[in-house]
Amino acid sequence: MLSSRARSLPASSTAALDAEIKARITAGADIINLTGGELDFPTPDQAAEGARRAITEGRTRYTPVAGIGPLREAIARRLTEHWGCRYEAAQIVTANGAKQALAQVFTLLCEPGDEVILPAPYWVSFPHMIRLAGAVPVPVPTSDTGFKITPETLLDHLTPRTRVLLLNSPSNPTGAVYERAELLALAEAALEHGLTIVTDEIYGDLVHEGASFTSVASLGPDIAERTVTVGGFSKTYAMTGWRIGFAAAPAPVADALTAVQGHTSSAPSSISQYAALAALTDGTEAELERRAAELSTRRTLMRDGIHALPPLRLTAPPQGGFFAFVNIGALCTRPNEDAGTVARDLLEHAGVAVMPGNDFAAPDHVRLSYGVGTGDIVRALDRIGTYLNTIRTGAHHG
Ligand code: PLP
Repeated sequence: MLSSRARSLPASSTAALDAEIKARITAGADIINLTGGELDFPTPDQAAEGARRAITEGRTRYTPVAGIGPLREAIARRLTEHWGCRYEAAQIVTANGAKQALAQVFTLLCEPGDEVILPAPYWVSFPHMIRLAGAVPVPVPTSDTGFKITPETLLDHLTPRTRVLLLNSPSNPTGAVYERAELLALAEAALEHGLTIVTDEIYGDLVHEGASFTSVASLGPDIAERTVTVGGFSKTYAMTGWRIGFAAAPAPVADALTAVQGHTSSAPSSISQYAALAALTDGTEAELERRAAELSTRRTLMRDGIHALPPLRLTAPPQGGFFAFVNIGALCTRPNEDAGTVARDLLEHAGVAVMPGNDFAAPDHVRLSYGVGTGDIVRALDRIGTYLNTIRTGAHHG
């Protein structure tokens, strides 16, 4: 009874593995879980209080489809003040997470068969969202260029059907952050060929010491005119369960997005919108800075820990987000061994759950989250080290 589109759509492998690990831990298994896509920080008090106020005051009705005015204004202001973009409230559409905004955007920008340039390794959901919109993902390998697409590799993959360049900086899963000059060169190449840029900047507030974040739309008005910026509250404020994301886009795209949403999901939860508004307006900046500093510390711990665990190798150390993307190619010595088998071995023999890179287009990498506390990072690295020693000395069953 399923359509061909539905038949070709697998369940999210990352969500499935995370659920399996959580169930095993609940059942008593001694596993350190580095598979998750969320930070261990709590929802900021201000946001929780904003939600409680919304309930008490009965703000529990449908809101305008694009979201309540004050929230759209606050998002536009933050993008302007923090990221140097010039967005008006009318250009902001809130959604049930960045995920929903992204999934809808491809349906607005692409005719059936149009191509979307997708730097690989990529976030697991991107190709499926693109295909569901009837478009075609065109993966562009970036492993030889620091996990970043360049104007040259972009041009190599252009066809008359190319419509969109999809960027994600800081990247899930690689942690790569584009420098301003790199982004500018890319954006100019994209514009020259009539492409629209969709930029997933959900990790834009989580950039570590030594790197700096540039939002594509801040590069200039002509670039902003051809750019759809997607962001959200899941990562910056660790509010994954509240389901608030947004798109900031040229007015015709924002209007079209509102129309689609108006006929499908309507606005996100009113209570979550008030929570998000409070996160933006009730003074969370000091807490965000503290969290960013903590993440930099965790990144350094993870990076240095992996450097001390050959043959594991970081192709490029993470500069933002909370994932280390680790090359495990040297552990795959037999036919059919890949990140999937290595992740299974680490789970069964080291008690550490990591995300195999297979569905990120990187079957020789695993992704380790440092969204967990430093204690878990240290213990996980220690367990992995012990396991590597066992296989080195041949004590492992093989
Ligand atoms: N984009 C990327 C690159 C992500 O990694 C994630 C979450 O894992 C999302 C979007 C989805 O975020 P949201 O919770 O706002 O839907």
